Amino acid sequence: MAFFQEYLQKIRQKNLHRQTTAYEPVDATHIKLDGKKYLVLASNNYLGLTHHPDVQRAAIDAIVRYGTGSGGARLITGTHPYYSLLESELAAFKGTEAAVVFSSGYTANVGTISAVMGRDDVIFSDERNHASIIDGCRLSKARTVIFRHADMEHLAGCLAGTLCSGRRLIVVDGVFSMDGDIAPLPEIVALAKQYGALTMVDDAHATGVLGQGRGTATHFGLEGQIDIHMGTLSKALASEGGYVAGTRHLIDFLVNKARSFIFSTALAPASVAAALAALRLVAEQPELIRRLRLNSDFMRSGLAAAGLQVSEGITPIIPLIVGPAEAALKLAETLRGKGLLISAIRPPTVPEGESRLRVTVSAAHERAELETAVDAIALAVRA
Ligand SMILES: *Cc1c(COP(=O)(O)O)cnc(C)c1O
Repeated sequence: MAFFQEYLQKIRQKNLHRQTTAYEPVDATHIKLDGKKYLVLASNNYLGLTHHPDVQRAAIDAIVRYGTGSGGARLITGTHPYYSLLESELAAFKGTEAAVVFSSGYTANVGTISAVMGRDDVIFSDERNHASIIDGCRLSKARTVIFRHADMEHLAGCLAGTLCSGRRLIVVDGVFSMDGDIAPLPEIVALAKQYGALTMVDDAHATGVLGQGRGTATHFGLEGQIDIHMGTLSKALASEGGYVAGTRHLIDFLVNKARSFIFSTALAPASVAAALAALRLVAEQPELIRRLRLNSDFMRSGLAAAGLQVSEGITPIIPLIVGPAEAALKLAETLRGKGLLISAIRPPTVPEGESRLRVTVSAAHERAELETAVDAIALAVRA
């Protein structure tokens, strides 16, 4: 058993030990901890829909109608009517022939990449891709070539320099989860065409955020040009679960081959119904996304005006790089003392020496709250 202790000791010394904290949610942008209320600038609940009455009502109705659990895997008894509705509406929303829902974004990536790619194939993966993409690549047993973050010259060089007897796949986060920048999809699509590669985009942070909520492809006007769209129901869509959208053949293939789809219990009716209600709100109320964008722009320009290093962008993810893990932790602690919950992100989530505060903004934040937050963050970072 010494192994466990030695490992924990080692990560504690490097300020990389982590633990869960039970926060009590108050509403979409506030939590309580030990009786004290905090403003949350750390959540992926980008549109605040976790607390929207339509979404909550949909989940409650689903429980009353169909029960709390699905009782089985998707191909056995777990597929209830909310699934058919959600999958067809997701496909329509994404502009694809079909879509399939997995039990999380993580399992959607792992199951899809390992089903589509195999030993003779080559995957070209951005170095900042999400861990679930990395794990999908590993599980696939395909050769994986990592290209420098958003570096299209490097990607072109990798494509040109890699012999491959099977399929090629270029896979990227549409919006990178820890940096908030957007993948250069037009260039990626062009390179994929040139080299006969498939394309896959992880829209975990773009669904409900970019391209009228439809994701990164729509943001760039590239509808119909991405082979595999993946996304999650757990961020802007205020529930849990992941999805893949694409051709009818792709989706039928995944239903029959993706092991994380086949061998895991289907989501509870409440989760699927909540995601469906949230998806409808995103489609019907464009002002939600407009407000998110206004709040993101306000936070970004406010921090920049206060003299902080903020990269330009339009997404609600705003990283403030501080460097050492210890410094990021201290800053997060200082801000907690001022009633702000902002995550310190450390390795292995980000590279060594790039620990940061990851500020995320929601459509549900009040302007006055963001103003107070900008002042507090600027003061703490400059101190
Ligand atoms: C959150 C996230 C996932 C995983 O989605 P879950 O639904 O949380 O499992 C996958 N990819 C990216 C880029 C993410 O940020």
